[in-house]
Amino acid sequence: MPELPEVDALAAFLRETALDRVVDRVEPVAVSALKTFDPAPSALHGAALAAVERHGKFLDLVFALPTGERLDLVTHLARAGWLRWKPNQPAAPARPGRGPLALRLTFTDRSGFDLTEAGTQKRLAVHVVRDPAEVPGIARLGVDPLGAAFTVAALEEILAAAGRSQLKGVLTEQARIAGVGNAYSDEALWTARLSPFKPASGLSAAQTASLHAALVGVLTAARDSAAGLAAGELKAEKKANLSVHGRAGLPCPRCGDTVREVSFADRALQYCPTCQTDGRTLADRRLSRLLK
Ligand SMILES: [Zn+2]
Repeated sequence: MPELPEVDALAAFLRETALDRVVDRVEPVAVSALKTFDPAPSALHGAALAAVERHGKFLDLVFALPTGERLDLVTHLARAGWLRWKPNQPAAPARPGRGPLALRLTFTDRSGFDLTEAGTQKRLAVHVVRDPAEVPGIARLGVDPLGAAFTVAALEEILAAAGRSQLKGVLTEQARIAGVGNAYSDEALWTARLSPFKPASGLSAAQTASLHAALVGVLTAARDSAAGLAAGELKAEKKANLSVHGRAGLPCPRCGDTVREVSFADRALQYCPTCQTDGRTLADRRLSRLLK
């Protein structure tokens, strides 16, 4: 799933590659992905890409219509979505089907991009709006962890407000901190040597400062290593730089203990017992349910 660093890199890639290009056509192939109906996607025909912004994990393509009005194409790629840059889009209209194609945008020079989504859970969302704040998920976003407002004091307030909620859930809740998902929350908790299940309000001042440094450090490093990469190279780059996320069964790069996993209905978290939980193995609810 693309998180803040990957969406940042996608935004930078589009800024470098596609700024000022004019839209020939927008084809919303997967009807379920399009969350707005007015303005219609065809309202973007003839508009020029004026800016590309990021809000949390949302990618915001800002277009200028020939009339000078602004129209935004906002997308949330969800877990299995991706943006594929295409130097040469096919001339034939895109055909709706069971494939991964959710939306195709073609510029007048035939270049463009496809928004695709693998798997059967269709969660990729596209909004065509006059103001990004019209997108409900954007209006609700919390502080951006790479913004100036994200200080240690700000994190302290967020953790205090979250009470007994577990750290893992608090870090990934977009209304509290915008842009952190399953992978970088695992990485930040491992870096700060904190259990994913620790209550948010139970951190000492030193632990809060260390979690703050870990979040900013992990996200900055990921953003820097993703910078300058083309859209197609980002996934492999993200995977190559992870220490515990997605590495269950492999040795912890810091202490050599085996990275463990806790599975939930539709996702899993990974952690190192020696580094994060005083050597204790966290209960895997799915596993214990199966054993009953
Ligand atoms: Zn370890």
